[in-house]
Amino acid sequence: MTETDHADVAQRLESLRERLDQYNYEYYVLAQPSVPDAEYDRLFREVQRIEAEHPELQSDTSPTQRVGAPPAGAFAEVLHEVPMLSLDNAFDADEMRAFIRRVSERSGESPEALAWCAEPKLDGLAVSLLYEQGKLVRAATRGDGYQGEDISANVRTIRAIPLRLRGHFPERVEVRGEVFMTRAGFEAMNEHARAHGEKVFANPRNAAAGSLRQLDSRVTAKRPLSFYAYAMGTVVPERRLDDDSHYQRLQQLREWGLPVCPEVQRLNSSEACFDYYARIGEKRDQLPYEIDGVVFKLDSIGLQEDLGFVSRAPRWAIAFKFPAQEQLTWLRGVDFQV
Ligand code: NAD
Repeated sequence: MTETDHADVAQRLESLRERLDQYNYEYYVLAQPSVPDAEYDRLFREVQRIEAEHPELQSDTSPTQRVGAPPAGAFAEVLHEVPMLSLDNAFDADEMRAFIRRVSERSGESPEALAWCAEPKLDGLAVSLLYEQGKLVRAATRGDGYQGEDISANVRTIRAIPLRLRGHFPERVEVRGEVFMTRAGFEAMNEHARAHGEKVFANPRNAAAGSLRQLDSRVTAKRPLSFYAYAMGTVVPERRLDDDSHYQRLQQLREWGLPVCPEVQRLNSSEACFDYYARIGEKRDQLPYEIDGVVFKLDSIGLQEDLGFVSRAPRWAIAFKFPAQEQLTWLRGVDFQV
C-alpha cells in the first residue's frame, strides 16, 4: 500500500467514525435515529474491518471500542459497579459457528460439551434496577456502559417492574433487563398520538427509549412500557447457586417476582442453538413484542468469568441477528413521523 493509499484509508476511517458518533448521539441521546439500523451496522462493520486490517489506526475513542453514549446531562449520573456492556453480533450461520468455535477454544471445552442459555433479543433498551433489602431504590440507563442516567422516577411507573421483591432475596441485588413496548401497546399509543395531532414514533424501540427519558414521569406513566429481566449484576452477599448456571439465575429472578421472557431456554448443543434460532425466527411475527435476533449466553457462570470481556462486549455471549426487516419498518416509520 502506498503512502497516499494509507492516507485515504485513514481519512475514510475517520469520516466513518464521525458518522457513527453522530448516529449514536441521535439514537441513544435523542432517541431519534436518522438512518436504519442495517445501515448503521454496515458502517460499523466497515470500521471494524479497517481497524482489523490496519491495527496502527486503532483508537480508544473509536465507536468500535465503546458502548452507547455518555449521559446527556438531563438526569443525575449513576456509576455502574459492573459495566453494562453491549453484545457482539453474528449476522449469519458461519459467524455463529465461528463464535462457538472461539468459545470452545478459549474455554478448553469441546463444542459438544458447552451448554447455552437462549433468549430472544428484545428490541428495547437496557436498564439496571438496584434492590436494597428487597426495595427498588434506583433505576439507571446503560449510558456509555460505565455511567448511566438515574431514571428511577420513570421506571417506578412501569407496572411489570416490582417495587418490592418476593421471597428470600439478598441484601442488595442489581437486576438487569430490557424495557420495551409491546406491538399492541405501541400501535395504541401511536393511534392515540395521531388522533391528538401529537408526534408519532417510528418503532417500539424508539418509543420505549423516548418514554424512559421523559423529564416528567407522569408522561412515562401513560406509556405502555414493559420489562423482562435477563441478568444479575452485583449481588450482596455474593452467593453461588448450586449449579452455577445463568438459566438458573433467571429462574431465581422469576422467584423474586421479576418477569423473565417465557421463551428463554437452556440448550445442550450447538445444533439446539440453530434449531432454537430457526424456531424463534418462524414465530417472530407472532410474538407480542419486537425482537431482532436471539442472544446465546454460555450457561456456566464459571466459564463466563473465565472468558471475561473484550473492549465493549462479553466473550461468552452473542446476538445472532435475524436478517434485517427494518428497512421496511423504517420506511413505514418515516411516513408516520410528523
Ligand atoms: P445491541 O442492541 O446490538 O446489543 C446489546 C443490547 O441488547 C443490550 O444492551 C440490551 O439492551 C439488549 N438485549 C436484549 N435482549 C437481551 C438479552 N436477552 N440479554 C442481553 N442483552 C439483551 O447493542 P447496542 O450497543 O445497544 O446497540 C447497537 C445496535 O443498535 C446496532 O447494532 C444498531 O443496530 C443499533 N444502533 C442504531 C443506530 C442508528 O442510527 N440507527 C445507532 C446506534 C445503534
